[in-house]
Amino acid sequence: MTASDEPGWFPIALRLRGARVLVVGGGGIALNKIRLLLAHAARVEVLAPTLDDALTALRDAGQIHHIAAEARPDQLNAMLPGCRLVYAATDDRAVNRTVAARADALNIPVCAVDDPEPSSFITPAQIHRGPVRIAISTGGAAPVLARRLRERIEAAMPAGLDSLARFLRDARPHVVAHCPDIDRRRRVWEDFLDGPGGAAAQRGDTATARQVLDQLLDGTRTTGEVWLVGAGPGDPDLLTLRALHLMQNADSVLYDQLLPPTLLDRVRRDATRIFVGKQRDRHTMPQPDINAELIRRARAGERVLRLKGGDPFIFGRGGEEIEALVEAGIPFQVVPGITAASGCAAYAGIPLTHRDCAQSCLFVTGHARKDGTLDLPWERMAGAGQTIAIYMGVHALPDLCAMLVRHGLPPDWPAAIIERGTQPDQRVLTGTLDTLPDLARTSGIGSPALILVGEVVRHRVVSPPIG
Ligand code: SAH
Repeated sequence: MTASDEPGWFPIALRLRGARVLVVGGGGIALNKIRLLLAHAARVEVLAPTLDDALTALRDAGQIHHIAAEARPDQLNAMLPGCRLVYAATDDRAVNRTVAARADALNIPVCAVDDPEPSSFITPAQIHRGPVRIAISTGGAAPVLARRLRERIEAAMPAGLDSLARFLRDARPHVVAHCPDIDRRRRVWEDFLDGPGGAAAQRGDTATARQVLDQLLDGTRTTGEVWLVGAGPGDPDLLTLRALHLMQNADSVLYDQLLPPTLLDRVRRDATRIFVGKQRDRHTMPQPDINAELIRRARAGERVLRLKGGDPFIFGRGGEEIEALVEAGIPFQVVPGITAASGCAAYAGIPLTHRDCAQSCLFVTGHARKDGTLDLPWERMAGAGQTIAIYMGVHALPDLCAMLVRHGLPPDWPAAIIERGTQPDQRVLTGTLDTLPDLARTSGIGSPALILVGEVVRHRVVSPPIG
């Protein structure tokens, strides 16, 4: 038999409530299995000459029934009949194999722990969220790998999955009764899951979820919605799980200049892509037109992704966009992202606050007004004990530095500029209010770049090389 047609383990889920399960072994190996069995309401009988402390406590609490004896054949023959499962969980492989052989002879499923050969079943690693269960198994080949996979799957599971699954379970009879056509029913479920109803059920807001579901059932709901999502500063690994999820479910995406293509690659392939620009002094699509486009598409039933660099509520005009949506009665969700200041600071090794020298951090925009002036709280900015993160400040960098000095900061006050932070071609320049403008000019620093001003720049650290 070749490896590819080797029969693997047949996955089933077994109900154990009230069923007798025999566990042979009185130590830690047995305890792991016993905990799992008790969580599934099995009636656990433990065969072992002695019990360790943890199992003794379980016995004293009446949770398990202990038979103090060796796993000899006569003892096993007396105990095995009527068991739904058997775990051979001693630390002695030979004993486990004897138990397995006996159980197998009686056609009772048996698992010899860490020994797939004599076992007729194995217990996979599990993820458990309400009614949802995901089992992962390598058939005993590599339990560590199974655990790794479990961690990764766990991380990708949306929070609130348990509430969602419970809601769907409870609503099922209602939906089946009101929508006998199976194809239509599937569409209703999918629209529900992708839209605000699914999100409400996930939050545990069953009243809203039920209302949306009823509207979908009687056809009075259009499914359009806008998702205002922060995509972070550029490194795709800094996307939130929620951002990624919505990116993969959108019908159309409106995106800015700031977003690197590696991020856009993660948007669902057949989503319509609309570039709405936003460059200095040249908004490819004016804000009212962006708002109108969002509303038009949502009204047509699309799930519209408004993808923004960083965080949508930090210099992202996210507030204006959702005001327009509210006015138009379009449902929306806002998903935060890692803002440029956090991303750049972390990847440049400059802490934004520091116990010794920065008790606060100010986010300001260096974008000049139409008349070319900067309208900033200079008095507040030109103080010690804080960090200033300046967005959109490349163009005005000489003015910014000069104004800070004029308002009282010393010319040798530390400052840094981070260009395309978190991206593979990130550049970091450090200097002072005096030197940074020239440094940036001669190095050809362009947008997007973030300026950090404050003594934290002196605390810059970079990781030693590996190896
Ligand atoms: N909403 C965004 C900011 C939009 S304003 C956020 O929360 O990050 C645009 C400015 O953000 C740019 O001019 C620049 O100052 C900063 N910025 C955004 N991404 C950046 C990056 N990868 N590296 C450096 N600065 C960045």
